[in-house]
Amino acid sequence: MAQPDFVIKAFSTDQFELPLPVGHRFPMLKYRMLKESLQQLSAISLESPPAATDEQLLLCHDSVYVEQLCTGSLDEKAMKRIGFPWSTAMVERSRRSVGATIAACEAAYCSEPRVAFNLAGGTHHAHRNFGSGYCCFNDAAVACCWMQTHWGLGQVTIIDLDVHQGDGTAAILAGRNETLTCSMHGASNFPFRKTRSDIDIALADGTGDEAYLEALHGLLQTLDQAVAHDLIIYLAGADPLESDRLGRLSLSHNGLRARDEAVFTFAKTRGIPIAVAMAGGYADPIELAVQAHRQTFECAIDRFCMGPAV
Ligand SMILES: [Zn+2]
Repeated sequence: MAQPDFVIKAFSTDQFELPLPVGHRFPMLKYRMLKESLQQLSAISLESPPAATDEQLLLCHDSVYVEQLCTGSLDEKAMKRIGFPWSTAMVERSRRSVGATIAACEAAYCSEPRVAFNLAGGTHHAHRNFGSGYCCFNDAAVACCWMQTHWGLGQVTIIDLDVHQGDGTAAILAGRNETLTCSMHGASNFPFRKTRSDIDIALADGTGDEAYLEALHGLLQTLDQAVAHDLIIYLAGADPLESDRLGRLSLSHNGLRARDEAVFTFAKTRGIPIAVAMAGGYADPIELAVQAHRQTFECAIDRFCMGPAV
């Protein structure tokens, strides 16, 4: 294989492990497996991200919520809605995961090849003052606001292709003119009460590759005409896969690859920096989700790192 012209930065948080009871449905193992799989790719540079600071979290989250979550004083009902048992390690991992999406945005914005990754993140069910569905803090929303306030970016667009609707992101960023939130998701899947994004595309259970990709091309066409994008944050969930336990759609690995290629081509051909978060992926067996996440990296390498063959 040819040597890459550029190396893509990827921020991993698997070293900040979340202590979970045996049999918990959250696929902690996936993150380590993905990192191990990426270590074989010379075009990927794995780095440890800083933890998001209070200043960063407070751009999108309520101060009482941040304080209670960080000190373990949220009530039982609020913790149940998040779905994790509280621990200091959980707080640290949540901060690092937001830090990883911020670091990926900064790397994509400031340096070639204009794409960077968080190996976790995509915690789009976290709202301003409560967490939900395995999401404590909303990494994409915080990173978006940080890039605008700290780096002076104008338009930031969030393309959320996790199979679950990005309700927290939509709620937190509602009414902000310089932010465009897009979610393409399963109509009848969690969250059962959706929040309105700027663009929502709801798909029927069982939607396969062809109909999915047609809907995506329509979305990208709309985005092309909507605004000039200074940065894209892409939630590349692997949970539209047919083998996903929570997905309810029927995409193949080839379909997901075509999805990733379409999004990366959109960004690359227009010179838009793109930061990618992995978001969901709950396939059975979990290796199938890892394979889908890995091919998102391979697509990015193909699009962004390889010069013309000589
Ligand atoms: Zn999901």
